[in-house]
Amino acid sequence: MGKRIKRALDQVDAPKSRCRNCGSTERERYFRTTTQGYAGTDAQGRPFTHIVRRWTRCKQCRQVRVDRCFENRPPAESPADEGAPEK
Ligand SMILES: [Zn+2]
Repeated sequence: MGKRIKRALDQVDAPKSRCRNCGSTERERYFRTTTQGYAGTDAQGRPFTHIVRRWTRCKQCRQVRVDRCFENRPPAESPADEGAPEK
């Protein structure tokens, strides 16, 4: 564990996913989630280690869509399913 530096709470607006069919941001609960171990850099130049896809449905027009997000996870939290040695 590294030393934690106390900082003021920072709030960042995460972009809300939006229906491409009708433009609504209202959606139902995610009913399926997949996580793919894939390292890269997103459009803002931030590195990521995983691509997470969450299936949902638009509350307005019932269009099913996948909300995709790029997550940068510390190695300890990564699932050991990508060529990691067996325990
Ligand atoms: Zn919609």
